[in-house]
Amino acid sequence: MAYTIEGSTGPWEVVVGLEVHAQVISQSKLFSGAATAYGASPNSQVSFVDAAFPGMLPVPNREAIAQAVRTGLGLNAKINLMSRFDRKNYFYADLPQGYQISQFEHPIVGTGVVEIELSDGSTKEVGITRLHLEQDAGKSLHDQHPTKSFIDLNRSGVALMEIVSEPDIRSPEEAGAYIKKLRSILRYLGTCDGNMEEGSLRADVNVSVRKAGEAYRTRCEVKNVNSVRFVMQAVEVEALRQIAVWEGGGEVQQETRLFDPNRGETRSMRSKEDAHDYRYFPDPDLLPVVLEQGWVDGLWAALPELPDAKQARFMAEYGLSRYDAGVLVAEQATALFFESVAKGRDAKIAANWVTGDFFAAMNRTGRTIEDPPVSAAALGQLLDLMADSTINGKIAKEVFEAMVETGKGPAAIVDERVLRQVTDTGAIDAAVDAVIAANPEKVAEYRSGKDKLFGFFVGNVMKAMAGKGNPALVNAALKAKLG
Ligand code: MN
Repeated sequence: MAYTIEGSTGPWEVVVGLEVHAQVISQSKLFSGAATAYGASPNSQVSFVDAAFPGMLPVPNREAIAQAVRTGLGLNAKINLMSRFDRKNYFYADLPQGYQISQFEHPIVGTGVVEIELSDGSTKEVGITRLHLEQDAGKSLHDQHPTKSFIDLNRSGVALMEIVSEPDIRSPEEAGAYIKKLRSILRYLGTCDGNMEEGSLRADVNVSVRKAGEAYRTRCEVKNVNSVRFVMQAVEVEALRQIAVWEGGGEVQQETRLFDPNRGETRSMRSKEDAHDYRYFPDPDLLPVVLEQGWVDGLWAALPELPDAKQARFMAEYGLSRYDAGVLVAEQATALFFESVAKGRDAKIAANWVTGDFFAAMNRTGRTIEDPPVSAAALGQLLDLMADSTINGKIAKEVFEAMVETGKGPAAIVDERVLRQVTDTGAIDAAVDAVIAANPEKVAEYRSGKDKLFGFFVGNVMKAMAGKGNPALVNAALKAKLG
């Protein structure tokens, strides 16, 4: 069912395109050798190029260009062997050049596609229009002094990839799924850390609404949204605002807006410029970027296995459901963790433990997959203890919790707490006899056909054995004795 918003005039369709600015992982800036580390003291990572001293010349960073190409390849996109840097002219206090070096007419990456998965299990392709390289601007600090603003140029000149999608997105959920998938691909590729809190990944959300079958109506751009949740909220509240404007007899004006997460609304920032307002022209300081196909092929050959391919492999190789495989491949480190637990073991049981008890423990303890509450090796050992019938599944959960608490291995916990499963049929028979003797009425009911009572007997025998009975042997003994 297509997502629509019900207005007073009936249902409205939501049309969304995203422009994502992704900071390139690179030691130095796009056109200078200054460092790019996050959190450095203000203006400590600024070269003369970044501060736009007269006569300084930009020199393209080969690694930043390689990162953009890797990203294009990861987005199944066309790599343009010839691209060009242009000047985008505008005045801003934290942009000392008076222009941003960007790519306008000839971006380094052309059309591509990202596949997203939705909660109903369906998939959808979102088109990529282009990816271009550009410089980031500096940062104005307005909260350091009562009457002055300060400027930090550390970010000035840092390489950004602007990844523009087609207006293929039709709901808040799709917008969220798209940005999550994009972030996952960038992290796998190692081209952007995807850290939205630190501003390494920010989205400009273009929203319009229309009636089914109509051409696109005027859109508004919600700038610099910095979390997946906020992107989804921005889509929804901006669509609601526009519907109210149209239904009130007004007309939506093309403009740039800001999302205020505290008030859950968007606010007008400025009327939207058109491309011609920026007076783009080729940067005379820079030659066109010309790539050799062989170099691009080399980058392609060195790409890691990406989430879609890994998901397909997990389904084929381990027999996992599409959903479980998707959860496990979202982060590369999680996929690695799972594979080392699953290796040589029952993969479905491994997947259940990783996505179940292990994820829950990670959430509860606030640990991460890089610093997990239980190592992959230890979790694997726990599964082995179940597989060889040393412990049963119920006791395994108890052992797992003790592993999280104490950091000890499963075998040590089983020994210390005497949790080894009881397979001694003498002990099992004795427990079964005792339970039967203590419940003559239930036995009579069971024998007269109340089969459901079997679970009652199993539960009581297990209780008598402190949960350690081998379930198969307990069942067999009960069946035999209840006759
Ligand atoms: Mn941009």
